[in-house]
Amino acid sequence: CGANCVIKKKGTNAMKLNTLFEQKKIVFSFEVFPPKKTSSIQTIYDTLDALSDLNPDFISVTYGAGGNPADHSTVEIASTIKHKYHIEPLAHLTCLNSTKEHIGQVLNELRENEIENILALRGDRNPDVPPKTDYRYARDLIEELNHHGEFDIAAACYPEVHPECPDMEEDILHLKEKVDAGASHLISQLFFDNNDFYNFLYRVREAGIMVPVEAGIMPVTNRKQIERMVSLCGASLPKKFVKIMHRYGDDPAAMQDAGIAYAVEQIVDLISNGVQGIHLYTMNNPLIARRISQSVASLIRCSNRAE
Ligand code: FAD
Repeated sequence: CGANCVIKKKGTNAMKLNTLFEQKKIVFSFEVFPPKKTSSIQTIYDTLDALSDLNPDFISVTYGAGGNPADHSTVEIASTIKHKYHIEPLAHLTCLNSTKEHIGQVLNELRENEIENILALRGDRNPDVPPKTDYRYARDLIEELNHHGEFDIAAACYPEVHPECPDMEEDILHLKEKVDAGASHLISQLFFDNNDFYNFLYRVREAGIMVPVEAGIMPVTNRKQIERMVSLCGASLPKKFVKIMHRYGDDPAAMQDAGIAYAVEQIVDLISNGVQGIHLYTMNNPLIARRISQSVASLIRCSNRAE
């Protein structure tokens, strides 16, 4: 089924994510990405089959990540998440390399597929593609979406400062612009030191940004992945993490176990400190997502029961 085709509804209860954050003390969500080649699209459906019984509160689907031109697969995958698995999808949408006309087309596809939650992003700069001029920042897209009034809008935030921004103070000012423009919740870039997240959250609240902030957690289970991630998003590596990498980096099974244990430890600490949401970057690996989810499921249940 292509993106323009609405998969028949099977009793899906539509849920805007702002309602979810009102109902739950801790929201637990996953992120997946469309496979690079459209010919491999089946692999994402196998992944979703395996992820769906882990009961995430929502699953987000990336859009043209890395500055690649987006195809229709984000909407198609989000639609399957909603109508086949009855899990709320959050469709990412980037604007820097888009025109208003193209964004209008994507919004129509989202409407046709009854997708109500959008993570509104500027998108990464692609050195080989000059940006278009209709949108400069995510805030411009958020304003436009808010004007439509029918979508719940999330936005990205950066505990270690966005790489293009000179300092945290300015980055948080721009973050506030996104929230003032209509973002109802924030999802953080991955980080490996929870203190970075706590310091950031303190400054965010001090700046008067009161919307829920989900902590983005990436289980790092092989050396190549970590090198790529750090160069892409500039996350710093705590000594403890570097030691793990040096000790186990050449042994795939040991590195996987250590990476999962590290992510679980981060999540346990975040939940104990009252974080409002955990967003797990699954890297489309359901086995790793399963081990992490099972390790923290009772903590999340317990926190959601607590007064
Ligand atoms: P913005 O909020 O627009 O900020 C970008 C930069 O501009 C920041 O340095 C900010 O401080 C600065 N800025 C903002 N407003 C102003 C202003 N008025 N004046 C001057 N400077 C300003 N990328 C993809 O391509 N696809 C995805 O699906 C995707 N998903 C993501 C999910 C999450 C949770 C995160 C954290 C990132 C994701 N990204 C994705 C990456 C993201 O697109 C990049 O980090 C991008 O460089 C910034 O996007 P943004 O929406 O945060 O931009």
